[in-house]
Amino acid sequence: MKAELITIGDELLIGQTVDTNASWIGEQLNQLGIDVNQISSIRDDRQHILDSLKLSITRSQLVILTGGLGPTNDDITKKTLCEYFNSNLILNEAVLEKITAYFQSRNLELLQVNNDQAMLPNNCTVLENSRGTASGMWFEKNEVVFISLPGVPYEMKGIFSDVIIPKLKGEYLASNVLNKTIKTQGIGESFLAELIKDWEQELIEDGLKLAYLPSPGIVKLRITAIGNRENELRNLIEKYVQKLVGLIPNYIYGYDKDKLEQVVGELLAKKNASLSLAESCTGGNLAHMITSVSGSSSYFIGSVVAYSNTIKADLLNVNSELIHQYGAVSKQVVEQMALGANFRFGTDYSIATSGVAGPNGGTEDKPVGTVWIAIAADEKVYSKRLTLGDNRERNILISSLSALNLLRLKLLE
Ligand code: AMP
Ligand code: MG
Repeated sequence: MKAELITIGDELLIGQTVDTNASWIGEQLNQLGIDVNQISSIRDDRQHILDSLKLSITRSQLVILTGGLGPTNDDITKKTLCEYFNSNLILNEAVLEKITAYFQSRNLELLQVNNDQAMLPNNCTVLENSRGTASGMWFEKNEVVFISLPGVPYEMKGIFSDVIIPKLKGEYLASNVLNKTIKTQGIGESFLAELIKDWEQELIEDGLKLAYLPSPGIVKLRITAIGNRENELRNLIEKYVQKLVGLIPNYIYGYDKDKLEQVVGELLAKKNASLSLAESCTGGNLAHMITSVSGSSSYFIGSVVAYSNTIKADLLNVNSELIHQYGAVSKQVVEQMALGANFRFGTDYSIATSGVAGPNGGTEDKPVGTVWIAIAADEKVYSKRLTLGDNRERNILISSLSALNLLRLKLLE
């Protein structure tokens, strides 16, 4: 089923109102597995409305219109739809009763224009609006469904959720839409695509869809399955998830709503292990991420934001000679920071970060974006160098995520 949206109203064309109706309806239809072909915004103009309707039936089976249903003269959608569908307006008693009650409850006089809102086309299904006085209308002509809704977003959304979604699901959509999101850390989108291209090819041949959703430090893979047999679809998705786990075990940290800091927290809790931090370039961001997880007090002991060399030496026992010789952003120093934190806090694991977050402060051998992260597990230590870009915020975020993922891998060993 292909759909298109026509939003009607002069205010949309002159930039006075942002067309939030179209984006909201687009999202809803997408979730229902209905492809949206086109979105158009047009003026409150009879000929424009008629032309758009005539064009829409050449390419869509579902046409949704919003706007132009108000009681005033500038709103002409209902009148124009009557012309297009050869309708007569008849009084809808139930709607009139509701409008009357609405005005009475607010102690307002019922005007003729309000009365007229209960006059509705004889050849449509009236869609009740429990939040306002303009009813929605559902027409069908030559296998095409036309739905006209009020422009006021609150009323439009109400009718859409209360009436249209159930009606579409019940009568028009036999199929299920299932999504599964696989979350990866530590590999860029294009490298990931290269690594899994055979898997992706096979998945597509099996009728599934794949979307890459990159954000700083994370690439999500969303698998979508559409069809009638829910259990079969679920099993098919699961088959591909398991194959992917076999292909890239180190990069996958979770699924759907999982967060890396929560996954790491669960692993620590399961091991009854404690964690401390020594943060330089991440400046407390790691501590913030870890403590955003409810229950983190059971494994997280504390953190030192060791920004200056003095603090690195005094609080984390980093040898000043090493800082002098290799610089604060170095394998030697970050490893000592991690070991120092474990010793100071008496923890089982610790994470340390040290890097040039940018955008200034780089040197030739340590350009902006050079970051060292380390994980200490008791007295053993592992470190890794990251080469990032020059955006400070991104660097802090990616360093934090990379460090958490490194810890996750150590916890799984
Ligand atoms: P109408 O149904 O045309 O009388 O629209 C009533 C009000 O709803 C307008 O004044 C706008 O503020 C709002 N509205 C209409 N169309 C849209 C739209 N596509 N997106 C967001 N708001 C809208
Ligand atoms: Mg209008």
